[in-house]
Order: sequence, then structure tokens, then C-alpha cells
Amino acid sequence: MAQKFRSLLDLCRRRGFLYQSAEIYGGLRGAYDYGPLGVELKKNILNSWWRRHVYYRDDVVGLDTSILTPHPVLKASGHVDEFTDLLVDCTLTKERFRPDKAPALTTDKNGHIPITAPDKDTALAWKKSIQEQFAPNVKITLEGKRILLHTLNIDQPDQRGQNGKIVFEMLDQDKKPLELAYHGYVEPNTNSPFLTDSRPFNLMFKTFLDPIDPIDRVIQTTIDHPNDSKPVIREAVDDVLKPSTVYLRPETAQGVFVNFEQVVRTMKTKPPFGIAQVGKSFRNEIRLEHGIFRTPEFEQLELEYFVAPWESKHYFKYWRKERYDWWLEHACHPENFRQRDHASDEMAHYATGCTDVEYLYPWGWGEVEGVAHRGNYDLTQHIKNTGANFEIVEDTPPVFSDAVKESGEGEADLIPTKLPAKYVPHVVESSCGLNRAMLAYLCDAFHQVEDSKGKPPRNVLKLDPRLAPIKCAIMPLTGKSEFNSLTQKVAKSLRRKGLFTVVESQKLKIGKRYYRHDEVGTPWCVTVDYQSLEDDTVTIRDRDTGNQERVHWKKVHQVIGNRLME
Ligand code: ATP
Repeated sequence: MAQKFRSLLDLCRRRGFLYQSAEIYGGLRGAYDYGPLGVELKKNILNSWWRRHVYYRDDVVGLDTSILTPHPVLKASGHVDEFTDLLVDCTLTKERFRPDKAPALTTDKNGHIPITAPDKDTALAWKKSIQEQFAPNVKITLEGKRILLHTLNIDQPDQRGQNGKIVFEMLDQDKKPLELAYHGYVEPNTNSPFLTDSRPFNLMFKTFLDPIDPIDRVIQTTIDHPNDSKPVIREAVDDVLKPSTVYLRPETAQGVFVNFEQVVRTMKTKPPFGIAQVGKSFRNEIRLEHGIFRTPEFEQLELEYFVAPWESKHYFKYWRKERYDWWLEHACHPENFRQRDHASDEMAHYATGCTDVEYLYPWGWGEVEGVAHRGNYDLTQHIKNTGANFEIVEDTPPVFSDAVKESGEGEADLIPTKLPAKYVPHVVESSCGLNRAMLAYLCDAFHQVEDSKGKPPRNVLKLDPRLAPIKCAIMPLTGKSEFNSLTQKVAKSLRRKGLFTVVESQKLKIGKRYYRHDEVGTPWCVTVDYQSLEDDTVTIRDRDTGNQERVHWKKVHQVIGNRLME
């Protein structure tokens, strides 16, 4: 499995899906650039989402809001205070931490992580210390002077000591350890083997809209407080920087909420209706992992669907299904996608329901999307902080919308009895990671076909043709100039239909050229051969069946266009 995933990553680099960002400067951890084929795949996923949820409907409109978000917006939404993971600093000093002596401790055959103390008493002290800091996330047993760590709770954020290079990683859903578990050397006779208490670490990237370098402001504030303690100086620095503080948004949703009233007014709409937004979000993740699965900069496809409170139960159910259907529509192996309802203690405090869509990546199940019933928490918070007019007012008694009437899932007891009926809409949100979607569909489509002659297997990306980066490759049979004119005519007719088309006129044999395109998922290859010169027909080869059919060159764009609509 790991080997297959490595082959996929190699393909992505080699064929222009993904590059390490700033590679010639040594790269930047967690940052990736999307190559010519990657950018097409990503765009096609996005287009499919937008088409289905905006263009095919009459109740969803788009929005594109600023990435830079002022402090008060994210303070009101709770992100400034609550958007945290737990971080643990390592207390080992450089002198005590001895990487040269550090054995890379991994799990034993039972999946436990053994740490051996110099003696029984030290082992007992270490056990107590770990228990105090990590219970109930880590279960510990003692065997003489050996401590065994097991059952790391997968639902808790991981805890990582940055300075001392001691790393705790979580287990995956199948209880298999994820990468390195513990790495370090601890001097005998220390009371605690490593770590400080865990502390919340805010995941937002902070920056400053200020013509004065914030570092200069910090230096000046420090100079102004020569005799004050660190906390006092810290508070003074916060005060000085607060007015210019902005954040790179950690989700696109807040931009939608703060514009709610403007959209209602300009589009003359009212619930049930939705606002779709696609864009970059940023999180200073403590742990970056699995390539583009978890990165500090990523793209989200988010849909906020606003509904009357008495219709929210229906629409939560509706969007869970609608979004899951979209995922399956493009999948080769639907069995590798699943929905997982959150337990009540997993959800954000304001949410009343949340269902993740998960994909079975090579390392286990991973979230690709969350569908959440956010209640009216966000709109209410922004009303409280700004007095914004986010209330819907109805002069006539509200009735169920047709869809809710049909489903019988309306909640009549929530309808206000007094007129005018006033309510703050509830929100059903679907939030999909575009980069994770791309990785999931790449894994889903990646096949290795064994070679009967004992050569290494060849790669085929069985991407849904609608997602495939290149829709058609035109191949003149040989490099002779007599094929040029017809080749260019077919290519032009496809390009004019907005289909990404390439001409493969390399001197490779035609079979090898087909295989090159199978590897990047091109669904159709068109060959211009000697017969084409006589009767203006060309062959269209299908990636998945290998079948070829002969059609007049002027029909190629129609045939391919029709297949893309199937
Ligand atoms: P996780 O638990 O995996 O960190 P999350 O529950 O924090 O995800 P949400 O806040 O629900 O994620 O964000 C919605 C979607 O955005 C996720 O389902 C995922 O597809 C995507 N996403 C979130 N964080 C990242 C990230 N750091 N890198 C790439 N995609 C991300």
C-alpha cells in the first residue's frame, strides 16, 4: 500500500500535478505548488461543485470575500479565543537532550511504545508524570523499569514538543500508530521525562495592517517599560498591536455571515437559500501531514445554506445526502468513501449536528468534508457585536417550503405564533477541502496494471472524465508533416469547445503515447493516420476499454462533448 502511494506521489511530481513549493531554495515545509495538470484537476473539481450547487439550482448564489479578516469578526465568531489545538513544549534543554544518543523508539509488536527508565523508582515517577499530563489520552502500564504507552486517544489533538524534538503522534482510526511515536533521549534521574503542561495554541495566522513594522512597535513598547514584568509588557504590546491586527481567515464562512444582509437585499431573496464560496483558508497547523492532506494554506469549497429554524432538521438531512452524492458521483470505488456522524462531545459547542465525509486514504480514513448544523450561532454573534440587521421578518404566518412539506420533516412547534414573525436563520454548512478532494480522487483513480512480460506495472489514472486534466490528446501517427494540417484542425475544434487538448507529436510509438496519457488520466486519444488523409476520419481511443471508433474529424468534439455530459 505504502509503495503504491509512493508511486502515485512520484507520478504527481513527474507529470506536473504537484511540486514542492520553492524547491530550488530547499522548499517550504507543508507548502505545495500545483503544476499544469494539478491546476486543471483542482479547477475541474471546483467547477463540478459550483455547477451542481450554484448553476443547477435557483436558490444558491456565489460570493468571494476578503482573505484578510479584521480582529473583531473573528473575536465575535469565537476563533480568537477558541480556535486552538493543544501544544506541549519540551522542557529538555539542549544539554540534556542528546539527539546523538537518541534511539528512535517505535512501537513494539503489540502497538505499544516502550520507554525504559534507569530504575524502577524513576519509572514510577515518569509514569505518574505522564499520567498527570496526558490522561486520559494516553494509557500507561508499568513493567519493572519499562513504561508502555498505549491507547493514544485519536480524537484529541496531537501534542508535540517543538524544541526538544520529542514527538507524540496519534493512532489512526484502525489504532495503527501514525509515524514516529517518541524520539529522544532522557537523562537518568530527571523527575519528569519530558514535557510541560499542554497549552492552547491558536491556529490562526496573525498579521498587521500597519505602515510601521510591528517589530519596531514591540521594541519601542519594551523600551517604554524598563522595569515591568513580562506579563505587563505583553499586555502593553497587545494593546499597541490590536488596532492593526488582522488574520488570514481560517475558514471562508465568516465572510459569508458578515455579508448576509447585503446578499439578501441585493438578490431579493430569503430562506431557504444558500451562499457558496470558494477560496483559500489558512491554519498554522501544529502537525503537517500526508502531503497536501494537511497544509497551512488550503482551499475550501463552502456552502452556507440559510433556513428557518423549523425547517433546519430537514435541510441538514438534505445537505448530508446531497453532498455525499456529489462525492460518489466522481468515485471509481464508492466503498472507499463513508459518512461519519460526530458524537455529541466531538462537535463545536454551537453545532447541533455534524457529519463528516471521509475517504479511506492509504494511511486510513481521513476527513474530506464536514456537513454541520451550525444553528444561528454565527449570525447571532455578529448581531450582538455590531447590531447588524440579520433578522428575517414575515408579515404573514410562515408556511413550510414545498420540499419540507413533502418530506414531512418540518417542526411546526418552532414556528412563531405572533405576527410579524421574526427569526434569525439557522445555517447548514458544508465545508469541503479542495486539496483533500484532489488527493482523494487521485488515490481513488490510481491503478497499476500488471505487465504480462514481467516489466514493472504501468500506471493508469481512471479519473472521472469530467475531472481529468487533459480531455483529449491528438496523435498524428508519425512525425511526418502530411499529418499536421488535420491534427491542428481537430485540436482547434476541441479547444474552441473549452476542452483542454494537447497534441502528442513525439516520436514515441503510438502505443507508448497512449500509455503516457493513461498515466495522467486522459480519457480520449484521437489518432490521425493514413486513412484520415483519404476520408477525413480519425480514431477515438477510450482510456478504460482501449476500444477505438472511427468518426469524421468534424464530429470529434461532439462525440467527446456528449460523453462528458453522460
Ligand atoms: P481536521 O480534523 O482534519 O483538522 P477540521 O475538522 O479541522 O479537519 P474543518 O474545520 O471542518 O476541518 O474544515 C473543513 C474542511 O477543510 C475539512 O474537511 C478539510 O477537507 C479541509 N481542511 C481543514 N483543515 C485543512 C488543512 N490544514 N489542510 C487541508 N485541508 C484542510
